[in-house]
Formats: sequence, structure tokens, C-alpha cells
Amino acid sequence: MTAEILCVGTELLMGQVLNTNAQYIARRLAALGVSIYHQQVVGDNEKRLEEAYRLALSRADVVITSGGLGPTVDDITKRTAAKLLGKELVLNPEADRMVRERFAQYHRKMMGNNQSQAMFTEDTQILLNPNGTAPGAIVPAGDGKVIIHLPGPPEELEPMFRDQVEPWIMARSGRVLVSRYIRIFGMGESEVDMRLKDLEVKDNPSLSPYCSLGEVMLRATAGADSTQAAEAMLEPLIEEIRSRLGKVIYEIREDDGGSLAHTAVRALREKGWTIATAESLTGGLIASTLVEVPGASSVVKGGFVTYQSISKTMLLDVPEETIETCNVVSAEVACAMARAAREKLQVDIAVSATGLAGPDGGTPERPVGTVFLGIATRETVYSIPLHLAGSRARIRTLTVKHALHAVTRETKGEREEV
Ligand code: AMP
Ligand code: MG
Repeated sequence: MTAEILCVGTELLMGQVLNTNAQYIARRLAALGVSIYHQQVVGDNEKRLEEAYRLALSRADVVITSGGLGPTVDDITKRTAAKLLGKELVLNPEADRMVRERFAQYHRKMMGNNQSQAMFTEDTQILLNPNGTAPGAIVPAGDGKVIIHLPGPPEELEPMFRDQVEPWIMARSGRVLVSRYIRIFGMGESEVDMRLKDLEVKDNPSLSPYCSLGEVMLRATAGADSTQAAEAMLEPLIEEIRSRLGKVIYEIREDDGGSLAHTAVRALREKGWTIATAESLTGGLIASTLVEVPGASSVVKGGFVTYQSISKTMLLDVPEETIETCNVVSAEVACAMARAAREKLQVDIAVSATGLAGPDGGTPERPVGTVFLGIATRETVYSIPLHLAGSRARIRTLTVKHALHAVTRETKGEREEV
């Protein structure tokens, strides 16, 4: 398979914007084993763009364009291709839905011309754009050739290329792409990046990080002629990552699913353990997150939502003196909550959380974000202090994640007693 990159934009010709898209696409294509013999850059001019298309289609199987998918008059990339192919642009319902969704998400008002972003030829395959308003497209161009349109902004183009174009190219070229998803909790994005920096610059296998609240996910991908060959390429990379990151890796899977809750439920099930929760600042969110996992019913026995101090005493027998002398946000109260939940519900492990979600109520020695988790098993009871920061929602969500992680580690005998 041969490909040609065609970047559209007068700003590129004039040197105002560095053509990083060409470099990105070229590197990825090279890694996938696709030959590139030519690249073109053309301004926002219909006549010259048409010439560029003709030339590219005369010598490559796949022409990949970047830029010019916006709603303004100088965004001519799709229109010019359609005209050259003798096809009409019509409103594509899937693209229209995506564009509307994106505008709603960004709280922006749609103008009449924004609809042009959802106009494609009828035989087009739409590429969704999770980071912008312009969808991309794969357009048949006759003789088994195709034109692939991608938006200009690199932060939109790169994930679309990686997640949608690469698999398409692999499927078409008879090569296979195998990925492993490495899920990490308990190490920040920048530290993960620092430890793996030299691995992240390699093209095949490639390694790219994705971040979400408190978590990092790495995608390791190898392209080869067979699944076996691709897996053999991934194996040493995964081993290297394991040795550099160690215990912060909580799961390695073949798809991008999974979560701390999935891992916790599976770990409990494998151990044959049941669990109960005793929650203050999370108000039932730990139990709810566990219950989201299909099959949780075999391990989650129940829980207590003890938000005010009085309910900690009434439902979980936490002595009033303990709350008074140690503070309701303390290791002692967290342990008492977990111990009582475990005994009352007769489970193998109980997890508790008490803390300050804010925004008000912090003190110098217990600022907002101070949280104590409690873990009680048949053998032991201990607490884990957390020092979180950010909004109320962030603190509560992170508390849930830490609690699930602590449960998994306890079931695996990797206790982190403090
Ligand atoms: P466009 O989709 O043509 O409106 O481009 C939107 C923005 O994406 C431009 O203003 C540039 O900042 C950026 N951009 C377009 N093409 C490229 C490229 N080839 N490399 C890097 N950035 C680009
Ligand atoms: Mg442009």
C-alpha cells in the first residue's frame, strides 16, 4: 500500500504554522509498513488543491488530507475532492449528530454554516472527532483508491489517526495491529512519563499514555504480519514497563475496558471474599461503584451510609468519645467504622471512608481533602490516610478509587499499612 500526505492550509505554505501533521502521519505510516513516496502542501485555493488531488491519486492508493474541514469559505478540502470525483455533498446524519453533540458539549451556538461540517459524499465512512467539531472521513475515490480527510488541529488529528485510521489501514493492508492496555493507579502522569520517556518515542511497538482522574492508561501497540508476531513484539515491552513501574500497574488487558472496580470485584471473587462498605464523605459511592460491575452481587454484601457523626454511633457503634477525642476524620474512626461493618454484615473484608470533601470545613491540621480509609479483615484492621486536593467531586471520586485499590491490594496480600 502506498500513501500520500496532502496538507491543506495557506498558513503552512507561509510558514506561520509548522507542519507537524505531516511528520506525525508519516512516522505512523512508516511504522505500519505503508510506503510514502510523496507529500504535498497546498494553500486554501481550489484550483491548486484540485491539481494536488489529481497528482496524489495518480500515484498513491491512499491520500490523507489534513486541514480545511471547518465551516468557513476557505475550508475547501471536502468540497474540492467531491467535485473532482463528480459527487455531491449531502448531510450525513451520523456526522450531523456528532457535530450537534460537540456544540452542546462546548455550550456553543450552531451557526448555519456549521452544518457544512456534517456534509459528505453519500459513500463516505465518517471518522468521529472526540476533540473537536469537524468529523473526518474516508471517501472512496475510484479504482480502489481512497481519500481520508482529517482536521487540521494536531490535538484532533492525532487521536483520530491513531484510534480510527490506523486500524482501518491495518485491516486493509492485511497486517494486524495488537494492543495491550496497561492500567495504572497511584503514580502521576508526569512520573509515568519520566520513567517511560525513552519507550514512548519508539514507533513499533508504540506506547501512548491516556490520563483520567487519578489514573493513567498506557496503550502499547505493535503492527506485524500476524497476531503472533505482534504479540512477540509486545512481550518484551510489557516486561520492561512492568519492571519500571511495578505495583502501580493494577491491570493489563487486551481492550481499553476495565476499571479499579472491575479489578476489585474480580480480585474478591478469585479470593472467594465478600465485602461491605461504611461510608461517610462518599455517601454510598464506593458501594455504588462496586455494584456497577456485572457480577458484583456475588461479592458485595451491603453497606452503611453514615454521613453525620450520630449515624456512625447509631449504626456502627463508633463510640461518641472516639469521635470527640480523635475527631470524626481520623484513623481511629475509619478503623472503627470498617471493623463494625465487617462484623455486622459478617463479611471477609470491609472498607470505610471518612474525610473532608469541602469546599468548607477545613482546618490547618485537617485541610479539605484529608481522608482516612479503613480496612478490616478477619486478621487485621488498619487505616490509610489520604491527602487529596481539588473540588468536592474530585476528592470524593479519588476517595472511591483509593478505597477500591486498597481492597484489591488487601485481597492480593499487598497491604499498604501506614
Ligand atoms: P484548519 O482545519 O485548516 O482550519 O486548521 C486549523 C488549525 O490547525 C490551523 O490554524 C493550524 O493551527 C492547525 N493546522 C492545520 N494544518 C496543520 C498541520 N499540517 N500541522 C500542524 N498544524 C496544523
Ligand atoms: Mg485551514
